[in-house]
Amino acid sequence: MSTGHLSIDLNAIAANWQALNAITSCETAAVVKANGYGLGADIVAKCLASAGARKFFVATAEEGATLRQAFGESIEINIFSGHMAGDTQLIRSYGLIPMLNSIEQVTLHLESLPGHPFGIQLDTGMNRLGLEWDAWAAVAELTLSQNPTLVMSHLACADEVDHPMNAYQLDMFHQMTDGITVPRSLAATGGILLGDAYHFDLCRPGVGLYGGEPFDQAQSVVTLDVPIIQTRDLEMGEVVGYGNTWQAERPSKIATVSAGYADGLIRSMSGRAMFWHEQTPCSLVGRVSMDLITVDVTDLPTVPDRLTLLGPQQTVDDLARKTDTIGYEILTSLGARYARHYSGA
Ligand SMILES: *Cc1c(COP(=O)(O)O)cnc(C)c1O
Repeated sequence: MSTGHLSIDLNAIAANWQALNAITSCETAAVVKANGYGLGADIVAKCLASAGARKFFVATAEEGATLRQAFGESIEINIFSGHMAGDTQLIRSYGLIPMLNSIEQVTLHLESLPGHPFGIQLDTGMNRLGLEWDAWAAVAELTLSQNPTLVMSHLACADEVDHPMNAYQLDMFHQMTDGITVPRSLAATGGILLGDAYHFDLCRPGVGLYGGEPFDQAQSVVTLDVPIIQTRDLEMGEVVGYGNTWQAERPSKIATVSAGYADGLIRSMSGRAMFWHEQTPCSLVGRVSMDLITVDVTDLPTVPDRLTLLGPQQTVDDLARKTDTIGYEILTSLGARYARHYSGA
């Protein structure tokens, strides 16, 4: 079999949720948008529910509906994108809670689903999603009279502890919400680590659950091993791959592994990333192609059946740093062709 093996450690995900939960004295939800950051929203959510999570967040009503179908009624499912035209049926049928982001969404929701639960998302300076100051002033009284489940906002720079934007947004959130009796939420993974002042009534970690920065204490969750299909010996001066971008500077042994950019191993890994055999790094050489990657295994005493790309030797963030992206993108790009193995929980 030539597909890569993606192993997902559910015990590590549960332990990461518990560790983040232990940092705060408020309730801890779980963000499972984008199919659980690429790792399988339904399986991840079941694992987190066993660990104690009761509130889940996804990006869209469609994701919420899929999660509800897989899961049943026992959890609360919240929708960051709110209530869009066309979502009404899904929100009603699947008992989803939209985080309303604009006066238009407030109007649509209250008119189409009167009495159906909703939350409010405020924009405290990120300028991405949520009601801004004036819009909130216009609908605060109306919406608060309907008992929203949550009033939330999102931090733009929480992964940078000393960024002045954090305190600015905290202050803005206080100004917009102090005195209301509705539960409040400001922090995702980064915000949890900023300390008590950011925790309010509910925290919403995502990436930290999946082993990603800025939660440095996270247990590693994913391991990706890919099989070697073929090896060949090159003489000095021979070239490898599309565009001949790599040339052997010594007699070399090149292994061709079965994975490529169609599996989420982004092309900017070309010439920069490492594969690993146990503790020995092996350079990726030449360009990443759609289904194949070439790796210099000259320094390995024997050629193994497979090489490791993600694991304790190289985390999603290590790989991200080498390829000018972030762990979130590496995770959510992991492709559909891998054989996925879930261990634990
Ligand atoms: C994605 C997201 C989260 C989770 O963020 P992490 O950095 O992955 O912990 C929380 N809240 C909102 C609004 C989000 O979009």
